[in-house]
Amino acid sequence: MSEEETIFSLIIDGRIPSYKLYEDELIIAILDINPFSPGHALVIPKEKVATLDKLSEKSSAAIGALLPKISRAILNITGATEFNVLQNNGKKAFQSVFHVHFHIIPKFEDGRGLQFPFKSTPIDHEEASIMSEKIQQLLLQGT
Ligand code: 5GP
Repeated sequence: MSEEETIFSLIIDGRIPSYKLYEDELIIAILDINPFSPGHALVIPKEKVATLDKLSEKSSAAIGALLPKISRAILNITGATEFNVLQNNGKKAFQSVFHVHFHIIPKFEDGRGLQFPFKSTPIDHEEASIMSEKIQQLLLQGT
């Protein structure tokens, strides 16, 4: 594999098999090989970028339109009524395949699905006020 190639490029190119759920010019969706629950799927833009912040507007729009549709199909077939969408960027953020992708993970009554070890702390209002102002400005500049 070349530097920008990952296991997902091989799947996209059809060089290794997968349980395909959907494919078009920009996106492929497959079942995860190590699912958190039955129906755990990966929705993968074909564009070869590692993380979401690098993804083009075209691929972003395509994936945004597809996530609800693919989620609905998965809920329909698995019988789950609840689910998580997970999207990891970077090693410390639990990314293991460095080609951008979204997980759709059905959650079942018996607990199968994503388990939450996440910790939060109350917001720091002084920091939040400065940060939100700065991010707003950057977004207004079109970043
Ligand atoms: P990440 O941790 O990067 O957000 O998630 C990568 C996911 O890709 C993992 O859930 C892992 O099970 C899945 N995965 C890794 N290799 C393969 C593969 O060869 N085929 C499929 N279908 N999924 C894979």
